[in-house]
Amino acid sequence: MVTTHETDKFVYDFAEGNKDLKDLLGGKGANLAEMTNLGLPVPPGFTITTGACQAYLATGREPDGLAGQIEAHLEALERAMGRRLGDPQDPLLVSVRSGARFSMPGMMETVLNVGLNDRSVVGLSDQAGQNDRFAWDSYRRLIQMFGKTVCEVPGEEFEHALDEAKRAKGTHDDLDLDADDLRGLVETYKKIFAKHTGREFPQEPREQLDLAIRAVFESWNAERAILYRRQERIPADLGTAVNVVTMVFGNLGPDSGTGVAFTRDPGSGAQGIYGDYLANAQGEDVVAGIRNTVPLQELERLDKTSYDQLLDIMARLEGHYQDLCDIEFTIERGKLWMLQTRVGKRTAAAAFVIAGQLVDEGLIDLDEALHRVNGAQLAQLMFPRFQLDHEFEAVARGIGASPGAASGAVVFTSARAVELAAEGKSVILVRRETNPDDLNGMIAAQGILTSRGGKTSHAAVVARGMGKTCVSGADEIEVNVPAKRFNVGGRTVSEGDVVSIDGTTGKVYLGEVPVTPSEVVQYFEGSLDPERTDDALVRAVHRIMTHADARRRLAVRTNADTGADAARARRFGAEGIGLCRTEHMFLGDRRELVERLILAATDAERTDALAALLPLQRQDFVEIFREMAGLPVTVRLIDPPLHEFLPPLEQLAVNVAVAQERGEDVAKEEALLAAVRRMHEENPMLGLRGVRLGLVIPGLFAMQVRAIAEAAVAVTRDGGTACPEIMVPLVGAVQELETVRAEAEKIIAEVVGDSGVEVLIGTMIEVPRAALTAGQIAEAAQFFSFGTNDLTQMGWGFSRDDVEGAFFWRYLELGIFGISPFESIDRDGVGRLIRIAAEEGRAARPGLKLGVCGEHGGDPDSVHFFHEVGLDYVSCSPFRVPVARLEAGRAAIETTGSDSR
Ligand code: PEP
Ligand code: MG
Repeated sequence: MVTTHETDKFVYDFAEGNKDLKDLLGGKGANLAEMTNLGLPVPPGFTITTGACQAYLATGREPDGLAGQIEAHLEALERAMGRRLGDPQDPLLVSVRSGARFSMPGMMETVLNVGLNDRSVVGLSDQAGQNDRFAWDSYRRLIQMFGKTVCEVPGEEFEHALDEAKRAKGTHDDLDLDADDLRGLVETYKKIFAKHTGREFPQEPREQLDLAIRAVFESWNAERAILYRRQERIPADLGTAVNVVTMVFGNLGPDSGTGVAFTRDPGSGAQGIYGDYLANAQGEDVVAGIRNTVPLQELERLDKTSYDQLLDIMARLEGHYQDLCDIEFTIERGKLWMLQTRVGKRTAAAAFVIAGQLVDEGLIDLDEALHRVNGAQLAQLMFPRFQLDHEFEAVARGIGASPGAASGAVVFTSARAVELAAEGKSVILVRRETNPDDLNGMIAAQGILTSRGGKTSHAAVVARGMGKTCVSGADEIEVNVPAKRFNVGGRTVSEGDVVSIDGTTGKVYLGEVPVTPSEVVQYFEGSLDPERTDDALVRAVHRIMTHADARRRLAVRTNADTGADAARARRFGAEGIGLCRTEHMFLGDRRELVERLILAATDAERTDALAALLPLQRQDFVEIFREMAGLPVTVRLIDPPLHEFLPPLEQLAVNVAVAQERGEDVAKEEALLAAVRRMHEENPMLGLRGVRLGLVIPGLFAMQVRAIAEAAVAVTRDGGTACPEIMVPLVGAVQELETVRAEAEKIIAEVVGDSGVEVLIGTMIEVPRAALTAGQIAEAAQFFSFGTNDLTQMGWGFSRDDVEGAFFWRYLELGIFGISPFESIDRDGVGRLIRIAAEEGRAARPGLKLGVCGEHGGDPDSVHFFHEVGLDYVSCSPFRVPVARLEAGRAAIETTGSDSR
């Protein structure tokens, strides 16, 4: 054992580590140590820590003391094995393998057979029973792997030389090359090595070892490893550990071999052993697919003793890790060796099923089961899926804006979508981008495809709200609405042609790809009884969701604007509405009334228009209050600028010009055009919207407040219970809220009378100034709801409608952020605003109700943040309600953060 100061300890014998030391020893090293200490047959070896790698990468040289520690551990290994590295008579050979904290399959380097040279190759042959062929083959593999990974010799040159050797022999099969051929190949390889490196292949085993270790350190910063880390959100500064392991050989004859196995089916979670075995081969042959593997069960026939021992070890590992394990093993002449184990990756379905099984088997409790699944997996299980059995070729790729799989006939207008849907056809609504007028078409369509816009574009937000598949920003598609067609990659797709879109990957396919519905959604919808079904997945989801509900502190509400959405969200477990947007209530048939309101020349005309809108609005709210009986419903007063309800300027100008040319009466259109021009804003997102509208247009908010209060009273009089919360958007200063509130309170008092209805008045916190003056605003607000879409937009100064599709790729590439801040809350910046507002709001008004209703309310990571900050609820689109419930439960049990990856 090496005695050095603990902080300078860079090398650990396998016997010194354990599975909890992944940060220090990497996943592979920690688990090899764990297996060693369990008494399992692991080839002896040692691990060089991630700390040594970090020090090397920081300074460009090995840290002081590392060389000596390696020496000491190597000597101990040699003593234990009774062999010396590179001994000409009886050499010890080692493999040098990378192994980071998080698994990064195939991203970093491995060098096998270190310790072979011109002399020890003979000793290896003796060890292997005068097997010259095996020894020379091992040597040529070392030169090839070492040359390529350590010295950057182009791999093709070795491949080419191997092909030449086979051609000379008249064969295609490596196994036909005999010892003499391989000896010749070693000579050729050495020449290739010398040509590219300007030096001979190193014969000194310790030098081979040191250079291989250094190459593994450096492979942490290989381009592909950097890309992989970025994609998987693995921190860049962790570094990799290096494992130096005694070589064992699966290619010593028919009584040797190598394999991989899972302790349960990683696809479905079903119990049983799953694996592949390849006789007379090394691990790299399995990966290279040189020969076909056989199912692991075959091993029982080939080598029953090893098979039984393997099964026994797998059962022990599962019991020990209390989870699905995957393993790699080698059999060398009938002796089984364990080369790796780890808690195995699995599909989303298997994650739930296995967690449920392990609870049944008494291995874990329900908290642990909840910890082991996550919202992203649940979300995956809720989408219909494409059965991509045979190859379908994607013709375009946009942003996966709202997940799911949908196929249907292409239509280009909302009206056509409604028409064809009424005939029972599936349709995909294709637009350059959608606007609020497309709502009916979006409802009628199976899916929505746009050529512009990001994840928070109109199409994306509305589609997610409806749980409808949407691909946005597929900019290879050129949409031509008047011609009813789009072009993509030289092809033309016309109205009625069928396309399929995948809202998870953003891929667009021509033709119909078959789709399977989600059984998990059927369960949430109530059409699959978890107590009666024999569907293991549904039973597991039910059990874990029930536990999440019991554990969570955050309430989960939904964003819903219609009775139908509200009803669905309740089935999915929503405990109220956190955001009822009122703008769609001003569209369709009511557009004409809104135009009258905008064009009103006198108070009387405006009052008339508002009076006509009032009963329609009241009915909207009655429906929603009924569906949400007894649960809180936050209704937000109208937010978008009013000109959004008028026709676009260019279109109107053309219509007016054409009509004037024809001598038609265009007085009304001219008035509209003048209004649109008057209301035009350079930056409408920062313009006359939200509370500002309420302050500028007399009677507008008052009409909405009255409609809400009257609806609540009507529902209560009918024996129901309505709990309305009126929310004022875009407030930046307490005075704005006070003004609106004073007017609202008068109306409420007048309408509510002694009906017993209580109406709360609160505000959105979505302008940075509101967050920073939350202490003042809380004096006038009975609740806050964080509008994280606008708070992100204004916090970063990013246009939420444009940037994701425009330049976020560069920000992601540069690592400025790992994920769009519109998708997952930016804890340091926007999150800080939320923290400040929560703290100062509650300090001013203890018990102030706090929620969030931006898109982040249904994002798994963000839900954990909102739990930490102490909000009372999150609100999200109906389809994300189960995800938010699950993550709120996980947040409640995970005080130290999640480790599941
Ligand atoms: C928000 O800004 O986060 C919000 C919920 O409001 P909207 O998306 O309607 O602007
Ligand atoms: Mg907003």
